[in-house]
Amino acid sequence: NWDLILYVNLELVNKTSKRRFIVKEMLGQGTFGQVVKCLDTETNNYVAVKVIKNQPAFYHQAIMEVSLLRALNHKFDPDDEHNIVRMLDYLLFQNHLCIAFEMLGQNLYELLKRNHFRGLRMEFVRTFSKQILDAMIVMREAGIIHCDLKPENILLVPSLTPAAEVKVIDFGSACMEGKTVYSYIQSRYYRSPEVLLGYPYNTAIDMWSLGCIVAELFLGLPLFPGASEYDVLQRMVKILGGQPPDYLLREAKNSAKFFKHVGSICPGSEVYNGLGSSYRMLTEEDIEMRESKRPKVVKWYFPQLRLDQLICNYPWKKSELTETEKTERLVLVDFLKGLLKFDPDKRWSPLQA
Ligand code: ADP
Ligand code: MG
Repeated sequence: NWDLILYVNLELVNKTSKRRFIVKEMLGQGTFGQVVKCLDTETNNYVAVKVIKNQPAFYHQAIMEVSLLRALNHKFDPDDEHNIVRMLDYLLFQNHLCIAFEMLGQNLYELLKRNHFRGLRMEFVRTFSKQILDAMIVMREAGIIHCDLKPENILLVPSLTPAAEVKVIDFGSACMEGKTVYSYIQSRYYRSPEVLLGYPYNTAIDMWSLGCIVAELFLGLPLFPGASEYDVLQRMVKILGGQPPDYLLREAKNSAKFFKHVGSICPGSEVYNGLGSSYRMLTEEDIEMRESKRPKVVKWYFPQLRLDQLICNYPWKKSELTETEKTERLVLVDFLKGLLKFDPDKRWSPLQA
C-alpha cells in the first residue's frame, strides 16, 4: 500500500496529462473540494473532475483515494463489472490534485428527494442493494473499508434503457483494513455502533451503513436521523430493540458517554436489567445531570416503532398488501436485521448478505 502511494506521488510529479479538461458546470461540493463536469477534449466525452483543495491534509487523503481506486479498478474489477466508479485520470493543476471520473448521474439522496422523500418500489430497493453489495464484496476482497457509505455516495448510472444501475463513489475517506488511522469516521446517520462507541473497526462498519441505506431507500427518509451521537444511539436501541453486546461496551473507549455500568447480568440480582447486560443506556436526564445540558435530540419522522412494524406498515395508510408484498416485506426485515446487528462479529458479510 505504501509502495503504491509513493508510486502515485512520483507519477504525479513526473506526468503531464495529455488530456485537457474544459469546465462546464458544477456537480457537487464537499469537504475535500469541488466536483465539476468537464469536457475531456482528448476523448470528447464528459467527465466528472474532483478538484481537491490545495492543502496538505486533503492532498494526502486524495492520494489515498487515488491509490485505493487504482487497485480496485485495475486489480479487483478490471472489466468494470462490480458497480464501482471508474477513475479515468489524475493530475496536478495549479497545485490542486484533480481526479477525473466517468460521468455518472444523480446520487440516491437526490433521487429520494425528487421522489418527495417517499420510499422506492421494492424492485428498486432490491436491485440497488444487490449492486451495492456486489461492490462491497470486491472492496472486502481488496481489504478496503469505504468508511462513508451513504445515499450521497451512491450514484445512478445514466442509461438509455429503463434498467436501473448504481455505482459506489467517493473513496475519499476509505482506508485499508488493519491500517485504520481515524476514529471519527462515517456520516452520523450511517455511523456504526462500534465507531460511535470507539472500538476497533473493520469492513463490518460498511455493512451497518448499508443497512441504514437500504432502510432509507424503502422508507424514503433516514432510519436513524439523530441530531447527536446520543440521539442516533437512542434511536438504534428503540428501533432495533436490544443494545450493543457487553464485550463491546466493556472495551470501547467512549462507552461511558452513553451507557452506565449497572453490575450483574444475573436474574434475581438487584441490578438485573432484563437485557442480559451489565450496562444500561443513560437517559436524557442522566446526561443533563452530568453535563448540565440536555443531549441534542430531535423529533421523529416516523412513529416510534420497531423495525418490523416500520417496514411492514409503511406508509401508514390503510391499504391492503398482497400476500407477496407481505412476504417481501418480511424478507426485507430479515435482511435488514442481518445488516443492523449491534455486534460487528455477528453482522452479515457482503457475501452472506
Ligand atoms: P466528497 O468527498 O466531497 O463528498 P464526492 O466524491 O462524494 O466528494 O463528490 C461530491 C458530489 O459530487 C457527489 O455526491 C455527487 O453528487 C457529485 N459527483 C461526484 N462524482 C461524480 C461523478 N463521477 N459523476 C457525477 N457526479 C459526481
Ligand atoms: Mg461524498
